[in-house]
Amino acid sequence: MGKINDRFIYIHPTFWFVVVLSILTGMFYHILIIFIIVTWHELGHFFMAKSFNWEIRRITLWIFGGVMETEEHLNKPLNEQFLVTIAGPIQHLLIFLIILLLKQTTLLLPEHLAFAYQYNLLILIFNLLPIWPLDGGKLLSFIFHIVLPFKRAHQYILIFSFMSIFIFLVCMIKWSQALVNVAVLITFLFWENKLEWKRRLYVYQRFLLARMNQHIKEKKMQPLLFISHVKLKSVFEHFYLNKFHPILIRDKQIITSELDCLNYYFKQGQYHATLSDLTQQTKK
Ligand SMILES: [Zn+2]
Repeated sequence: MGKINDRFIYIHPTFWFVVVLSILTGMFYHILIIFIIVTWHELGHFFMAKSFNWEIRRITLWIFGGVMETEEHLNKPLNEQFLVTIAGPIQHLLIFLIILLLKQTTLLLPEHLAFAYQYNLLILIFNLLPIWPLDGGKLLSFIFHIVLPFKRAHQYILIFSFMSIFIFLVCMIKWSQALVNVAVLITFLFWENKLEWKRRLYVYQRFLLARMNQHIKEKKMQPLLFISHVKLKSVFEHFYLNKFHPILIRDKQIITSELDCLNYYFKQGQYHATLSDLTQQTKK
């Protein structure tokens, strides 16, 4: 595993499987076209992310698309996240344009250009399905994060995603479209969602930890109102991804910050503390 993580661009084993298959069936140029389109799409995300100084762990390429892995979605402003996400699908419009230009030349066979056009369209449509972790799923997740606190938003996205996978499966069976491909795809998507669902508490924890060292000024302020016997744990469940929260304690007429709460909880290990404990501690 460690060796895989060292590679910045990681090509998923399923991709190699298709490469071998394509050589055996004499479709090498087709696979090359797919490789170029998929890589181009990911580079769209990559360069946009780099322009915002995001840290990128690696790019994984698989036959139906790629994934740019980063932890930054837990602490970057939503508008940056939106631009980084949309930068992928937008590349397909550019690719369409290039295909049109190439059609005017004799550089490539018409058959290959037709394939490039089809595959480019297929990836674009597939990529915009509202399923996590596809770009469509991510775009949808931004809406969830605007209207809901992080913890709930993240859960609802995955539940919505599971439902979309099911609808997608039913539609594909009904239209009996390339069932082997669809089976591989659905399995992959289901697996990704199951994995993300299993690690949702871990993701939530990472989100809270990321809040402790981020730039407050980039965020909209939204005060949250509580009474003092509320546990810090419950306070955190009201945190939004793209907002910064001063904490108002009604019965004590005290204002504290989310940072104080997080520090008390994580740095001092007060996992069962209430807001009241926090204010008494700061008075000492
Ligand atoms: Zn993408």
